[in-house]
Formats: sequence, structure tokens, C-alpha cells
Amino acid sequence: MLRNLTISGPRDRTADRKRPRFAAFSAAGAAALAVALVLLSVFALDLNLNRLKDSFGWVEHTDQVLLQLATIEATVIDAESGERGYLLTGNAAYLDSYTRARDAIGGQMDVLTALLSDRSEQMQRVHSLRPLIDSRFAEFERVVALGPARMEQALAILKTARAEQLTPKIADGLAQLRRTELALLDERQRRAQRDAARANLLAVAAGVLALTSLALGLFLLQRQRSRHRIQQLQSELIHVSRLNTMGQTASMLAHEMKQPLTATANYLQGARRLVEARESPPPANIAEVLGKASAQVDRAAQIVGRLRRLVDKGEAERTAEDVGATIDEAVALVEFGRADIALRRQVDPRLPRAVIDKVQIQQVLVNLMRNASEAMQHSARRELMVSAEPVQGMVEVAVADTGPGLPKEVADRLFQPFVSTKPDGMGVGLSICRAIIEAHGGRIWADANPAGGTVFRFTVPGAA
Ligand code: ADP
Repeated sequence: MLRNLTISGPRDRTADRKRPRFAAFSAAGAAALAVALVLLSVFALDLNLNRLKDSFGWVEHTDQVLLQLATIEATVIDAESGERGYLLTGNAAYLDSYTRARDAIGGQMDVLTALLSDRSEQMQRVHSLRPLIDSRFAEFERVVALGPARMEQALAILKTARAEQLTPKIADGLAQLRRTELALLDERQRRAQRDAARANLLAVAAGVLALTSLALGLFLLQRQRSRHRIQQLQSELIHVSRLNTMGQTASMLAHEMKQPLTATANYLQGARRLVEARESPPPANIAEVLGKASAQVDRAAQIVGRLRRLVDKGEAERTAEDVGATIDEAVALVEFGRADIALRRQVDPRLPRAVIDKVQIQQVLVNLMRNASEAMQHSARRELMVSAEPVQGMVEVAVADTGPGLPKEVADRLFQPFVSTKPDGMGVGLSICRAIIEAHGGRIWADANPAGGTVFRFTVPGAA
């Protein structure tokens, strides 16, 4: 039996308006923010990577410059030792290292110029170094040309060269270039480290914010879901409440109708007895008509009584019934609006009896057949087929029509109460059918009829 339930009133809209502003910030918004922050974090890391690459590039460049400076220094020393060796020993082999150094120095200075071309202060140093190296190599040239044969003159040139301090000046120039290059590398690396630290901080902050927005998004999603669930529960409660009201109304109606129905039945009995007791013969079919009328009143009283018991206590009277006969009686009860519906009935001969409350199952059949005949009202083909067959210990009954099929808007809510496409329909017929069938331990469902239209099927337990 359905119990009274308290349903809360319509939602308080002012409360909605008072909700904090951030509630409007949806889960999707939070997720989008999280994605944007992750992208920002990736961008910062990428920037960092590029800085690191730059930093490696600078180290490599400085290495090349230092190597070139060392090569030039070695070349000057080679030329000098070749010159001295030749002068002191007269051995021509010493001339080779001098010649190699003389041929190489020009190219080596060009490479150095190319390496330092983007640094104007270094370029100035290179420009002031070049004339020193040129003068030094011119001296070598002259000394070597004089050779050991004219030792006196050669030594005089060497003396002048020492006085001019050309070699130490070249060494000093190269050392200055080296120092500046190392200082520059140091400054660049420190700047790169500062930038990297900033970019790392940005990446970490963006990452943390992304995680926070993600968590916020999940929280909001969860909240949206629970709100949706609450709305669903509210609408289910409203349905249950309406069903409850309907149950109470049905119970009251059943109670109120019992007396007039009993009285009508008594009057019909009395009328029949009076007609039978009359001297003159009554009209030929009056007794039969009165008999039929009282049978219908009895049936109405039975339905009302069972409905009342069902609503009050959820009880039903089940006995093993012949399904064919149950279908036949139900067919006889349906008032088909149009006479031209072709009705066929097909009952499997192997069908066992069904354990059912016959009156209730007939209510289901009448409902399904009435719906089918209404659905076929405007169809060219109007065929109604009621069939029954055994399926795994159950009896499966099918009511098939050739109507237009189920309207899309109600197809997945057919068995819910108050779902109807008819202007004057209450939309409770199928929900009552489902309640009756499920109370019998069976199932009810609808399929498209392969021949066009709809087939409603239900199962009820077969007798052992
Ligand atoms: P009602 O008949 O009062 O509308 P029902 O619960 O019996 O309530 O039916 C609900 C809805 O299901 C109907 O309004 C109709 O749209 C649809 N329906 C039921 N039976 C059929 C059928 N045989 N063919 C097409 N639609 C049907």
C-alpha cells in the first residue's frame, strides 16, 4: 500500500538568486581553465628548454674562441722556436715549423675574426692584435732570410724585437681576449639561470593552479550531479505522491460504489423475479437482458472489491486459470469503437494454465486491446492479434496491432504514470498494467510489430 509522503513545495527561487556568484562558474569552465594553465606551464617549460639550448650554444662558442686563441698563441710560439732553432743550428728542419706557422697564422686570425664578429669590443682587440702579429712575423721573415750566415745582423734584429716587446704584447692581447670571453660566458650563464628560475617558477605556479582548477572542476561536477539527482528524486516523489492520491481516490471510489452497485444488483434481481412472476408472458428476451445486466453489475462489483483490496492491502486472489478462456472473456468485454477491426486469437495448445488473478489480468488485456484499437483508428489496415505461448515455465501473452507504432516522445516512458499522447488520456493505463503484471512476478514490455504497429507482451507464471 502506498503511504502518505510529504513533498516539499516549489523551489525557492530567491534562494537561487542568493547563491554565491562562483556557483555560476561551471565544471566545464574550471576544466577549460585547468587546460589553459597546463598549456601555460608547458609553454614556460618549452621557453626554459630553449634558454638551456642557448646557454649550451654560448658555452660551445666560447670553447671555440678559447681554442682558437690557444691555437694562435701556439702558432706564434712555433714560429719563434723555428726561427731560433734555425738561427742557432743552421738546421733547415727548423724552418719547417716556422713555414707552417707563417702559412697558418693568417687563416687562424680570420677564423677568430669570424667567431667574434658580433662583439664590437672584442673585434677592436682583434684589430689591434693583427698589426702586432704581422710585425712579429715580418721580423721572423727578416731573421730567417739572414740565417746563421749573417748571425750578427740577425741577432741585432732580435734585440730590437725584444726591446719592442712584440711577443709579450701579443700574449697579453690574446689573454685579454680570453678573459673577456670567459667573463661574457659567466654573465650569459648567470642571466640564463635567472631566466630559467623565473620560467620554472611560472611553470610550477601554473601547474599548481591547473591542479587546483581541476579539483574545483571535479567538485563542481560532483555538485551538479548531486543537484541533478535531487531534482530527479523530487520529481519521483511528486509521481509517488500523485500515485498515492490516486490510490486513495480509488479506494474511496471503490468504497462509495459498493453500495449503489449492490443496490442495483438487488433491484435487477427483484425486477427479474417480478417479470417472471407476471401472469401474462413477458417479452421474449427480457429475462436474458436482465440476466446480462446483473452479470455485468456483479463483475463491476468484483473489480471494485479487488481494486479496493489491492489498494488497501496489496492483495490479489490467484488461481490456476485457462488462458484461452481468460482472453475470450476479456475480448467480450472490450467495446471496439469501430466494428471493422479484424480480431484473431491464437493460443498454443501446449499452453499450461496460468496462476493469475483472472479479473486483474483481464483488466490488463482490456487495457492493451483498447489502446491497440484506439491506435488503429486512422490506419488503413486494422488487425488485432492476441496470442499466448509457453516460454520457460511462464505464459507469454502478446497483443499486436497494425497501428502507427509508438509515438517517439513517450516510447521510453510508456509504463510511467501520467504519460499520454491522447487529448483526454490520463496516462495511467499502462502503469496500472505494469503494477499488476509485476505483482504477479511477470514482466511487461513493448516492441515494434514486424508487420507494422506495436506488440505489447507480458508474462505471468504458468501452473506447475
Ligand atoms: P492513455 O491511454 O490514457 O494515454 P496509457 O498508459 O494506456 O494511457 O498509454 C500511454 C500512451 O502510450 C498512450 O497515450 C499512447 O501514446 C501510447 N500507446 C499505448 N498503446 C499504444 C499502441 N498500441 N500503439 C501506439 N501507442 C500506444
